[in-house]
This record gives sequence, C-alpha cells and structure tokens, in this order.
Amino acid sequence: MLGRTHFFVGMAAALITLRPESLPVVVAGTGAAAIGGVISDIDSGTSTAHKEADKIVMAVTLALGAVIIIEYNFHIGIYRRLLADSNIYRIITGSAAFLLLCVFGMRQPHRSFMHSLLALLLFSSCVGIIFPEVAPYFAIGYASHLIIDLLNRKREKILWPMKKGYSFNLCSSKGYVNKLMMAAGIFISAIYISTLPYVQEAYATMLTVLRLN
Ligand SMILES: [Zn+2]
Repeated sequence: MLGRTHFFVGMAAALITLRPESLPVVVAGTGAAAIGGVISDIDSGTSTAHKEADKIVMAVTLALGAVIIIEYNFHIGIYRRLLADSNIYRIITGSAAFLLLCVFGMRQPHRSFMHSLLALLLFSSCVGIIFPEVAPYFAIGYASHLIIDLLNRKREKILWPMKKGYSFNLCSSKGYVNKLMMAAGIFISAIYISTLPYVQEAYATMLTVLRLN
C-alpha cells in the first residue's frame, strides 16, 4: 500500500487497540503509530523516479515535528512523561540503534528485512528504550503495515532471514482498496481523537485562552 495509507491506518489501528487515556499519550502515541506505520518502506529505494524512501523520511519528520510543536506550544506534558519514563542516555542509545537499523534496512531489498517480524521486534525495542510508554503504539503501527502489505501481489518476507515470501494477492497497492483504507484510517483517527473528552476539554481551554488574548 502507499505511504499515506500506512500513515493513517497505523494511527487508527493503534488508537482503537490501545485507547490512550490522557492528552500527552494520545499525541505522542499517535505520532509514534504514524512513524511505525510508514518506516518499513524506507527499503523502497532512493534512486527511483518516485524517491519513495525520501517520502518516508519526510512523513517521519512530519509526525515527529507535529508532536514536538504541540508540546512546545501547549506544554501538554509529553516532555515531563518522557523524562519520568526515560533518560538522556536511553534516548541517545535508542535513537542511535534505531538509525543504524534504518541504514541497514535501506540497503536491503524491498519487502525483506524491513517487512519482517524480526524488524518489528528490533525497531519496537529501540522505541521502548527511548520512550517505553509509546512503544506499543509504534509496534501496532508497524504491525498494521506488515498486515496490509500482505494483501498485495508483491511477496513479503515476513519471516526474514528465511527466504520465503508471502502474499495473499487480493488487491493492488495503488487501487481502490488502498484509497478506501486510507479514507477509513483518516475517518477513524479523526472521529476517535475529536470525541475523546480530554481532547474536547483541551480544545475548549485553548479557545478560551485565545479569546482572552
Ligand atoms: Zn511496505
């Protein structure tokens, strides 16, 4: 499936499964799920006309940037939770390991290592070292990518390093099922987030502050 689809399906899958109970967790968790949803396709190559890997890096930057901007402007408590849950050494070690895995994964053929259960485990462990509370969100985003790619024709080496690839060959990665899944991902995420009581409360507070100013 296309990157946009994975971005939103990852978010929706994590929100529905994990049901975050506070504003900092919903924001950080949704960002982590979106990153988990798209990162596997970093193995798509940088030399093709579409430069798929570049788009993945952009999507990751966008998700991470949105979380940082929300925290920086509204102080919703992500930074406090991160420091309570982790420390600077863990953040550096986990990020370095994450980036090394990305460098390795980029050099592997499409739908091999990056699309395997082993990579799901390794990448989720890195996120667990950086920020344990959001690791389950990342893992579900990542798992959703592996599951929906199985629906396409191109085989996925989900048991890498074993050589055999699997596919259900049910739909095209760019056809109407892809579009339908993306629309469902956007719709479910938007409805889910906007109806959370603490999100509505935060929105009302924000409006009051803006009016007073
Ligand atoms: Zn993929």
